[in-house]
Amino acid sequence: MATVAEIFQSMEYGPAPESEKEALGWLAKHERVFGHFIGGEWTEPGDVFDVINPATNQPLARVTNGTAADVDAAVAAARAALAPWKGLAGHARARHLYALARGIQKHARLLAVLESLDNGKSIRETRDIDVPLVARHFYHHAGWAQLLDSEFPGYEAIGVVGQIIPWNFPLLMLAWKIAPALAAGNTIILKPAEFTPLTALCFAEIADEAGIPAGVINIVNGHGDTGAAIVNHDGVDKIAFTGSTEVGRIIRKATAGSGKKLSLELGGKSPFIVYDDADLDSVVEGVVDAIWFNQGQVCCAGSRLLVQEGIADRLVAKLRARMEKLRLGSPLDKAVDMGAIVAPVQLERIRGLVKHGVDEGATMWQPTWACPTEGCFYPPTLFTDVQPSSTIAQVEIFGPVLVTMTFRTPDESVALANNTPYGLAASVWTESINLALDIAPKIKAGVVWVNSTNLFDAAAGFGGYRESGFGREGGREGMWEYLKRSHDGLTPVVGVARTSRKASSRKAARGAMPAIDRTPKLFIGGKQARPDQGYTKRILSPSGEIVGESPEGNRKDIRNAVEAAQAAAGKWSRATGHNRGQILYYIAENLSARADEFADRIDAMTEVGAKLARMEVDASISRLFTYAAWADKYDGAVHSVPIRGVSIAMNEPIGVIGIACPDAFPLLGLISLAAPAIATGNTTIVIPSAPHPLAATDFYSVLETSDVPDGVINIVTGDRDALAKTLAEHDDVEAMWYFGTRDGTRLVELASASNMKRTWATWEERNWLDAEDGEGREFLRASTHVKNIWVPYGE
Ligand code: ADP
Repeated sequence: MATVAEIFQSMEYGPAPESEKEALGWLAKHERVFGHFIGGEWTEPGDVFDVINPATNQPLARVTNGTAADVDAAVAAARAALAPWKGLAGHARARHLYALARGIQKHARLLAVLESLDNGKSIRETRDIDVPLVARHFYHHAGWAQLLDSEFPGYEAIGVVGQIIPWNFPLLMLAWKIAPALAAGNTIILKPAEFTPLTALCFAEIADEAGIPAGVINIVNGHGDTGAAIVNHDGVDKIAFTGSTEVGRIIRKATAGSGKKLSLELGGKSPFIVYDDADLDSVVEGVVDAIWFNQGQVCCAGSRLLVQEGIADRLVAKLRARMEKLRLGSPLDKAVDMGAIVAPVQLERIRGLVKHGVDEGATMWQPTWACPTEGCFYPPTLFTDVQPSSTIAQVEIFGPVLVTMTFRTPDESVALANNTPYGLAASVWTESINLALDIAPKIKAGVVWVNSTNLFDAAAGFGGYRESGFGREGGREGMWEYLKRSHDGLTPVVGVARTSRKASSRKAARGAMPAIDRTPKLFIGGKQARPDQGYTKRILSPSGEIVGESPEGNRKDIRNAVEAAQAAAGKWSRATGHNRGQILYYIAENLSARADEFADRIDAMTEVGAKLARMEVDASISRLFTYAAWADKYDGAVHSVPIRGVSIAMNEPIGVIGIACPDAFPLLGLISLAAPAIATGNTTIVIPSAPHPLAATDFYSVLETSDVPDGVINIVTGDRDALAKTLAEHDDVEAMWYFGTRDGTRLVELASASNMKRTWATWEERNWLDAEDGEGREFLRASTHVKNIWVPYGE
């Protein structure tokens, strides 16, 4: 027996196991076998699979593998529950979410232990991080339910949503998905990951106890096939997925052209950047939280340590010393830092990638203490001498493996940080506020933590750029993912008011003098450029009169236009809102000086009549004013997060946006889409109305005289769907908007999977003349990403 004095000397401490009794009791109550939870009832267990405790390799329970019929039943239950749930007053739904939050808190210990048993993560994390954040999510979203009508006017629930989640934060991912969906009035089919279904099943019971109406939340278990059945089900209106980029890409393709709304939260290879003035002791603790939290099985794990050269050796020495002190062992031991890896297959993957790193020539280091040999454990691992292009520097390992690289200057750190197809999160460590806030916006990531890492809160949106997916979870920005425009009273004006004239009458009106031949070109990089192939197309009016010719752009022209847009992107995104606004006003002024000419052209092309053509020009001028006004007003937010500090939500331009314009409203359609994109700092490649492209080609000279920097708006006329597909396939195009046909929507959504670009593709018609339908925040949201920059303060 050690004396107190000896204990103080050695600072050793013994095991402090949390009891698993209650969790095992809950499993026993269900005889350790589960069906699905559909329409408020447990289904009979069917074809079951084992759920294993990865810390012991012992089975915990058997869970039913969902079939297509199970998914059908769940969708039917969710559909039946939709109208009454959506129809509830916001306050009533707020009470339900509040009840869920309370239910979580009442059962907090059971959920924490069950999660720990099922996933292998430490009880310290499930008890102090996962479960409290789950409760916080439901509380926060009870608030959005309460405020829905006043804060989201004109929007309503999407309908039945399918949600597919991974195993790394089983209950927390459930909360991130379910809370906003419920707050907005949707009903749900959720599939937990096959490795970790237990807390979702326990949650179903808690939700039932809390009085959530039957069918509002349905839990269907299973593997990838079950997930695919949800994704492909016609009765599902939206898919929200968190998981690997690989499966995200499959889902993007599977839903293409279906009209299903999609949000994807995918992988990452997030940089953790340390400058030479950083407080290194804080950095060491930050690294522990960044990569050894949850055994590194975190999509936003700071898995690439980028260190300024002069301090690299000192930091690595400190890190190794700290790693020697990390404790790894039974997840239920309250004193361990690290628990088990989720499953043998994941353990093998980590081992394989580490071996690959060693084979590639990097230096691998692990602490001297031994890992438990029973169960799925892997020690914290540190790589140095890593090449930025090596596999371990590029591929997401999803384990406790950190790779270190060095840089010399801040510019080099940004280049290294962005040298990844992902863009989920980043940490920036420096004592210089100037440097931190200079670097944060330059990193392509949805979340940036300053002198901190892995901070999450329901009030702050989380989500990625590029191959890390699109959409945000949490905060106001996350609510939009579960809402759609309600269409009360909006009737598309397209197709009406066509007062077609006789060709002969127009000819007479134009007089006897033949017009000087004007064959327009394309507009690329601020210049009128001849099309690659030199083909032109005759443009006819609806009554068959020739109104002009327009060039047929091709793949090469698109490539040139993308290059021009990329070249202009950096400078334009840094222009001030005031400056961008001034240019939009200038375009409006120059367009207004030629309003009659444009109205005449529109009328000639579309034969909508002089009055409607003039209305279109006037609306275009007004629309330019709208976005000139917005250019310095589309502010972000400062979120109230429960830390000493702030989370700054910045609206950032997406980058290069491809825009395929609707057929109707040849001028107004183009301006309604290009103006918000450039007002917010994007550069664009625009495919104008294919049947009526001449308003766009006339517009070149307006752009030329309005100080629009070269490359900010590029215009390529031609076959809309072929050009849109090329744009959607292009890896340097960061978002694609498409207003055309259903087939075209499918084409664009499929092609966009190459770099997982954000799409806004639809065959829905709009009344572009109507300000409610044709302009406003919806367009500004589509033009921007929200980046949350967390800045803690105090000593
Ligand atoms: P991870 O790498 O995190 O395991 P996955 O993307 O493999 O991520 O799995 C995340 C979730 O997606 C799990 O619930 C899994 O069952 C589900 N899933 C896997 N394949 C598919 C698929 N083809 N369609 C839909 N869901 C799938």
